[in-house]
Amino acid sequence: MANESTRKISLKALVNRGNKRVIFMESGHEFVDVLLSYLTIPIGTIIRLGRYKSNLAAMGLGCMNNLYASVESMDVQHFRTEACRDMLLCPRNGAGSTLKSLKLKIGDCDPTQYFKCSNVSCRTSPARLSYYRSVRCIRCGNQMESKRNLLVGSLNGVFVKGLARLIISDDLQVMPAVTSVSSSLLMKHGVLDSNTIEEVTLNIGVNEVVNLLICSFISKTPLTDVLLLHRPLANLIKNISNQPICIDYYSARVGDMVYDEANIKLKLIISKSKKVVCYAEAGEDFVNLLFSFLVLPLGFLLKQMQFGTLKGCIDHLYKSVQDLDQQLLKSRYSKEVLVNPKLPSGFCYQNHPLGIGTATFDIAAAEIVDPKSPSGEDRNQGFLKGPAIFLVTDNLFGSPVSPVLINNILNKMNVCITDIEVQTVLLGREEAFSLLVASFVCDSALTSVLLGKIKQER
Ligand SMILES: [Zn+2]
Repeated sequence: MANESTRKISLKALVNRGNKRVIFMESGHEFVDVLLSYLTIPIGTIIRLGRYKSNLAAMGLGCMNNLYASVESMDVQHFRTEACRDMLLCPRNGAGSTLKSLKLKIGDCDPTQYFKCSNVSCRTSPARLSYYRSVRCIRCGNQMESKRNLLVGSLNGVFVKGLARLIISDDLQVMPAVTSVSSSLLMKHGVLDSNTIEEVTLNIGVNEVVNLLICSFISKTPLTDVLLLHRPLANLIKNISNQPICIDYYSARVGDMVYDEANIKLKLIISKSKKVVCYAEAGEDFVNLLFSFLVLPLGFLLKQMQFGTLKGCIDHLYKSVQDLDQQLLKSRYSKEVLVNPKLPSGFCYQNHPLGIGTATFDIAAAEIVDPKSPSGEDRNQGFLKGPAIFLVTDNLFGSPVSPVLINNILNKMNVCITDIEVQTVLLGREEAFSLLVASFVCDSALTSVLLGKIKQER
């Protein structure tokens, strides 16, 4: 069996000789499945992969990166279990073993790998399995360290049918490989003469798949940038960092908010002169919500975003799956996993304002332990212990409340005590969605989403 890191997919692309741009790439199910699997990847995994590759803050994913860093730096005693932190830093993919047959797999969490207690006297039927080795066995209290792989293979295609042929445009639209599609792409690129195009073979391995994913957040031409020209991500980021980010979406959404569901209360500490939120003081319910963004699949986020909100073109991928002919996909379930991706069991909790569902898998003769509550007694709670008070900065760095930290934040922002006012806000479903989108596209999520709310209420 080929080593994961050396495995490659070779594909033919048509390239415009003049401007050295990929017009389109032709692919069978193998690469399209890999591309579509992006939609199932949890945001926390994307942040982790992006950190190895580049400076995420410069990509405009700064707030998400701060959420990830907050989890990393928070003492484990604030989490309900040790495994809660693993859930956020290394979230499981809700598509689970569906992804086992992908030719190129990214992320270091194996979707088929589970753990069980190695103690023979703890054997039960059905077997109790956990996603993480940090989960403690409820019988003996030891960590569940013994590996157990559950193999569920799907032959001949993961999402797309085995014989399907598809075309992928430079801006990640996936379309059927028919003449009308290819000729319209050629026309779009102004190619009228076949002498101006050349056929190029592109070799794609795991490294390229990760770069393509990260690049798709910042570039409208990721196939050209990553696969054809092998442009370093850092160079691409340099070129885009001065472009303004579209924030129309959530400022528009805040206008027609529904207030009756608002149930998370927080205090905003606002600079009157600068009209910005310096920080928020909130209970664990608010920080649970923010941290839960890391476990959400990318497709769930893209579903909430207005088309064109992001600097890159990853939203084209989402939209093309929505529009893709059902005939090309393996089943209705394949489409559902991609356009309405869900969380693995145990990753959600009760009264979550975003209302994302949990994926149900039939794992024969096994019961999956909730990492937040191995005994199952209070599985409806979030990741953090409560009651507790946390401090969240405007760019979503969360930590336990501390007067020293408050002083540092105000000093850094050059805000004096007399310039401060405190406002209490209630946060419901609409604001939670707006915060999710804002945390991905701007650096001052609290100001952008919640300051507008206060103005409207006055
Ligand atoms: Zn045990």
